[in-house]
Amino acid sequence: MIKNTLENPLKKHFNQDYPDQFQEEPGLESKLTPKPDAGEETYQGSNQLKGRKALVTGGDSGIGRAAAIAYAREGADVAINYLPSEQSDAEEVKKYIEESGRKAVLIPGDLKSEDFNQKMVKKAVEELGGLDILALVAGKQQAETDITHLSTKQLEDTFATNVFSIFWTVKAALQYLKAGSAIITTTSIQAYKPSSFLLDYASTKGAIHTLTQALSGQLAEKGIRANTVAPGPIWTPLQVTGAQPQENIPSFGQNTPLKRAGQPVELSSVYVFLASNQASYVTGQTYGVTGGGFTN
Ligand code: NAD
Ligand code: MG
Repeated sequence: MIKNTLENPLKKHFNQDYPDQFQEEPGLESKLTPKPDAGEETYQGSNQLKGRKALVTGGDSGIGRAAAIAYAREGADVAINYLPSEQSDAEEVKKYIEESGRKAVLIPGDLKSEDFNQKMVKKAVEELGGLDILALVAGKQQAETDITHLSTKQLEDTFATNVFSIFWTVKAALQYLKAGSAIITTTSIQAYKPSSFLLDYASTKGAIHTLTQALSGQLAEKGIRANTVAPGPIWTPLQVTGAQPQENIPSFGQNTPLKRAGQPVELSSVYVFLASNQASYVTGQTYGVTGGGFTN
């Protein structure tokens, strides 16, 4: 049931210290404590995306999982991409999509390869019978406080995952997208208020902001919209895999005006809105879901 009573945003979700914890990249949602709310039990759809065909990268966990579940509950068939080691998280999402009466397609593989990006799009189109929504949510984030210790491998992997894969996926997908289709990328508050220990990651998020604006200009005459979502601190597996200096984990998110981390489900409606006909006059924009940090 949708609750229509007033809910205090400070108290709506978990607002205590998180237990200190660490996982190797890319981490598993099933091993996070407490488990994030990606809408599994809470997101209710209303046919806003009936019959659409969506590809969600990073759809196994965190924000991508929330988008994938919401899209299915809104009536879309959904393909999700993730790394092979995340198969168990992906199987859970498949179950939620299928319980919504929609088709789920699992496409494991590494977005750092251009060849894989092309294969992913081709498989999504073949299995879904087309493509209307590209939600590009996958991302890599590793903290490094000293630029002289930032390895070229980390730099290349972070840019390939976060930025190059967007170019490669969009290039491969454009031939299938039609007027009314939507591309949604995922930037971050880090594009606007960068942390000094996220030099490479924050730079990729700035690039995503800018490339999405430029892309929206190219695609407008085709009737295809491109927007980006800028999350603040959200409780997801990424955060406990070295994305933060480890001492930041217990109080994660408490330095925002709303004094807690967000949960993935708090982004669901934004990914749905930007994909839907409701956003017919919205392109080239950034939507912040930050707990109060400014994205400008
Ligand atoms: P998450 O760990 O749940 O999701 C990230 C996903 O990226 C992983 O599930 C993995 O499947 C995918 N991924 C990483 N490297 C990949 C690769 N080489 N090939 C294929 N897939 C790969 O964490 P999340 O926080 O939900 O992250 C989703 C997006 O949100 C990311 O782009 C992240 O930068 C962005 N974001 C997160 C926060 C936050 O506080 N959690 C804040 C701002 C932006
Ligand atoms: Mg994951």
